Amino acid sequence: MDTVAQEIRCSHCGAPVEFKPGEIIATCKYCGFTTVIETGQTFTFEHSLILNKFDQKSIDEPIQAWLRGGFLKPGDLARKSKITERNLVYLPFWVVSVEAKSTYKGIFERIAPAIVKEGTIAKEYEWLVLAREVSGFPTHEYEVPLEGKIPFDFRKIEGFAKLLNSEIDRDAALELAKQQIEEHNRFLLQQDVDKIVEMKTEVTLKQMVYLHAPIWFIKYEYKGKDYQLTIEGTAGTALKGDIPSSRF
Ligand SMILES: [Zn+2]
Repeated sequence: MDTVAQEIRCSHCGAPVEFKPGEIIATCKYCGFTTVIETGQTFTFEHSLILNKFDQKSIDEPIQAWLRGGFLKPGDLARKSKITERNLVYLPFWVVSVEAKSTYKGIFERIAPAIVKEGTIAKEYEWLVLAREVSGFPTHEYEVPLEGKIPFDFRKIEGFAKLLNSEIDRDAALELAKQQIEEHNRFLLQQDVDKIVEMKTEVTLKQMVYLHAPIWFIKYEYKGKDYQLTIEGTAGTALKGDIPSSRF
């Protein structure tokens, strides 16, 4: 579905900033300033950028490496595939740094008689929340290389690349992170107890950063069919790829 783009003026340089319905934080292409669309106000959180290391030629190296590697792929995949699309997209993320403490009471049934276990799981997370709907993006496979982040610099965004705006604000991102962290701690706890009687998670926020990270969306053709491959642009690691079924 194609949606009509709307426009606001950048609060910093006055250039038109296009946005689509559903987007609520927009970055100006001309000066890199970020604005909250609804209020027209300047965005007050840290905005960072993860640098991309590939161009439309050199991205073929990690693509070829992926096509060649692994056991499950057809032997002629690298030779017979044709790369048909190489799209670099800067995806928006919120990185939520927290201390999360879950206090629990559960029942351990793996010995007889079963015993009641109580305790806490205390962890620090830099939890990643994808700031918009991107169908099939494997958030859990992607570890944002935070040590390589720089302050957002629009001059580093390649002319052929696409920069996507955020569809969720800071509060919504924090809420999502809390829910996901609680679920994650619940999952961890299930390794220790068989039944959870009660669990309470306390999340202390340390920092929130809005960032754009480079992701390559690749399409390749193999024996007349199209397949997709997603590669992150920092190290060229494949995050997710469609593998044609091989015949044995
Ligand atoms: Zn601007």
